[in-house]
Amino acid sequence: MFSPFEYKRPETLQEVFQLLNQDNDAQIVAGGTDLLVKLREAESSPDLLIDIKELEELKGIEQNNDEIKIGSLTTITEIKENKLIKNKLYALYQAASEFGCYEIRNRATIGGNVVHASPGAEFGVPLFALEAEVEVIGKNGTKRLPIEEFWYDVGRVKLDNELLKSIIININKNIKNSYHRLSRVEGMDLAVVNTALAKKSNEKYRSYFGTVARTPYRNEKIDEILGEEKFNKSTFAEIQDIINKSVSPRASSLRASPEYKKRMVVSLLKKCLRDIEELGDDIDG
Ligand SMILES: Cc1cc2nc3c(=O)[nH]c(=O)nc-3n(C[C@H](O)[C@H](O)[C@H](O)COP(=O)(O)OP(=O)(O)OC[C@H]3O[C@@H](n4cnc5c(N)ncnc54)[C@H](O)[C@@H]3O)c2cc1C
Repeated sequence: MFSPFEYKRPETLQEVFQLLNQDNDAQIVAGGTDLLVKLREAESSPDLLIDIKELEELKGIEQNNDEIKIGSLTTITEIKENKLIKNKLYALYQAASEFGCYEIRNRATIGGNVVHASPGAEFGVPLFALEAEVEVIGKNGTKRLPIEEFWYDVGRVKLDNELLKSIIININKNIKNSYHRLSRVEGMDLAVVNTALAKKSNEKYRSYFGTVARTPYRNEKIDEILGEEKFNKSTFAEIQDIINKSVSPRASSLRASPEYKKRMVVSLLKKCLRDIEELGDDIDG
């Protein structure tokens, strides 16, 4: 059941910050696809909803020199259909293509996905692998910080009466990138597990695994092994061993057992690597 709340749709950032400062129980809403579920299940009962969909400053995808900036209000459909994203940040195109269904992709925003900070969020592992930075805007101006610092726990991000303004990715650093997920129901369930891999301009790799830890998980030893570039069955046996010893996925998950998750993230890593490199059959198995 929804509790009664006031609804405002400000047209300027200044109005948003005034409202946030006046009301401790105010809640930002973008696409509403996470928030409305929470309201219906009474997990959240704000007395004011601040709809930010009118704010032009938070919209659009643009390239400035080496960087692509994605406004937080960009919908998943806009990401999926953007040529710059498909050409330069293929992992984000893949994440947008796997996301929900047509109706949800049209409403849901990348900003909402990041701020909701769910362990299997579609854009978690690819943005961490791409070393994305976020721009946060508050009444005193804008600041920029790495996504790992911003998204620090399940459902927790560093915002203090502020908005996520945009997400910034350096395309020169990220030569090739890929994302894969596994879900129980094609298209309409959150990821059971997901993995992203980015190959860097210095030929190094950065891999991230989702739902095996509280936030997207990286193990530098795995990236060192990938950097050795002689991929065969023993490479992945070694990586599997590192994963088995280093993560303990939640046993109470309804989607999959810890053992299954640990095996599948490595299997998805192979798929990502196949997207990035010309590989023979020697990594099968
Ligand atoms: C049927 C269904 C299918 C789904 N499928 C998927 C899926 O496949 N993959 C997946 O990852 N998720 C999925 N989701 C979850 C959800 O759609 C996404 O997390 C979505 O990206 C949330 O974006 P939103 O704009 O709707 O966020 P909202 O619900 O509007 O907001 C989410 C949270 O972020 C805050 N917020 C939003 N924007 C900002 C901002 N700019 N600054 C500060 N705070 C902000 C809100 O206050 C709220 O706490 C699904 C949900 C449903 C209902």
